Amino acid sequence: MNIIFLGPPGAGKGTHAQILVKQLGIPQISTGEILRGAIRAQTETGLKAKSYIDAGQLVPDEVVIQIVKERLAEKDCENGYILDGFPRTVHQAEELEKFAVIDVALNLSIADEVIIRRMSARRVCPKCGGTYSTAMLNGSTVCPKCGETVIQRKDDLPETVLSRLEVYRDQTEPLIGFYDGRDLLKTIECTGTLEENHAKVLKALGKENLPL
Ligand code: AMP
Repeated sequence: MNIIFLGPPGAGKGTHAQILVKQLGIPQISTGEILRGAIRAQTETGLKAKSYIDAGQLVPDEVVIQIVKERLAEKDCENGYILDGFPRTVHQAEELEKFAVIDVALNLSIADEVIIRRMSARRVCPKCGGTYSTAMLNGSTVCPKCGETVIQRKDDLPETVLSRLEVYRDQTEPLIGFYDGRDLLKTIECTGTLEENHAKVLKALGKENLPL
């Protein structure tokens, strides 16, 4: 099954995708995580992407399209994959159709206040890329996976979150109509707990019986 997660930054795309990886046994492809990895490794792509990401802007389409095209050609994507954070523009979606067949686009719908609250509480590990909320860390500032000190992403700072939301409304939200027009859209109202919202995700996929 080839799945897309749509929704504003902070809606929980990455979190639901991570759970689905275990439940469905297919990889999560997060363009944000791939780009942050490229920045950590100081590759040419990473250097190109950094200023856009730090400013809350989208990295140019050509850069991310190439990344996804190469990633989807890898062997572990043969039986399906979960795209988390791609496509983010109609142009990316149109290009994606040239090299992939998407089965469903899950649109996570969530109130702006919740997004802003969540993003200000998000911490990441600069070494392994682990993502946590301050509540999950329970006062600790250390990555539970690798022991590195966690940090706040520059693009999670309040002023940048607002520009990311604006970018989402302008450039990414039109994808809801794009996938609805192709009869692939399923909208999930994320009003409950993580478990409740994930149950809705599974229902939308027709997999309600999978254990968490
Ligand atoms: P994310 O982790 O998905 O919130 O992505 C973090 C940042 O990476 C975004 O704010 C963009 O700057 C960049 N990014 C990730 N995915 C894309 C994409 N599909 N197109 C353009 N920029 C992207």
